[in-house]
Amino acid sequence: MEVMNKKRKKVFITDFDNTLYDWLDGWYKAIDKALVLFETKSGLTRDELVPEIRKIHTKYGTTEYENLFHELTCFIPRFKSADEFYAICDEAKKIRNESKFVNLQSYPSVKETLIKIKKAGAKVVVFTESEASSTCGRINALGFNGLIDVVYSADPKNEIFDACGTPYRFFEGVFHPKPCPENLLKIIDEIGVNKEDCVYCGDNMFKDVAMAKSAGVDDIFAKYGSDIFRQKKIERPFLDSITFWSDEMLKKEFLLYQNAPTPSYTLNNSFDEIFNYFVFDEVKSLVK
Ligand SMILES: [Mg+2]
Repeated sequence: MEVMNKKRKKVFITDFDNTLYDWLDGWYKAIDKALVLFETKSGLTRDELVPEIRKIHTKYGTTEYENLFHELTCFIPRFKSADEFYAICDEAKKIRNESKFVNLQSYPSVKETLIKIKKAGAKVVVFTESEASSTCGRINALGFNGLIDVVYSADPKNEIFDACGTPYRFFEGVFHPKPCPENLLKIIDEIGVNKEDCVYCGDNMFKDVAMAKSAGVDDIFAKYGSDIFRQKKIERPFLDSITFWSDEMLKKEFLLYQNAPTPSYTLNNSFDEIFNYFVFDEVKSLVK
């Protein structure tokens, strides 16, 4: 009878990084391992490297830029030769790539919950702002193929990536970053359902929750994956030190947190708390 108090939904739309798995932890482990190798072999310190790394991330607008080490060319005079520099870069890149998808695990109950939603006949859609190559690799590594009906992300531009076992769609033209509601509304329109049939879940209050609210879609806050629990950890200050975000953006984020919207539904400890609030029903067609 408890079902009577729950909302019925047909499409579950979710953020990916830090909502379905711990992106920050995986990202940190991979870059830290590569940096330790680079530091050991080059004699350069992290304090010297961090400001230069941040410049490169800012140039490319990502903290996952693959050829990061190869572009630290300002340090070449510190090496015996350019060849020695590039050999160490190759090693660092390799170790980072190898670590990136190793030991990745989804948050507890994520897979079981997605399976249950799909068994009910509802659809699961991922909406991420991350690069297609990283997201595809992680979907494969996390064993999510078959659990997600479609992934939406920004146009991959010149990215080259291996085939993903999950259907992938890109927003053509201008990409509206979260919390702009345009892309979420576009997804719902393409799927061909009403907003009322959808619910959107994410770990970031001012991006995910705010976006769903301004789109008029029920919002769920994945608190267990949010920054609220990260401020004291080593990973988050390190990310801030080499992020492509400007100081202004970081400050703005902090201020926004002071005025973050109040989530309509909150998953405090685990993903399967979704079923405390929602029941999922069958939907016939996914895409128009
Ligand atoms: Mg996220």
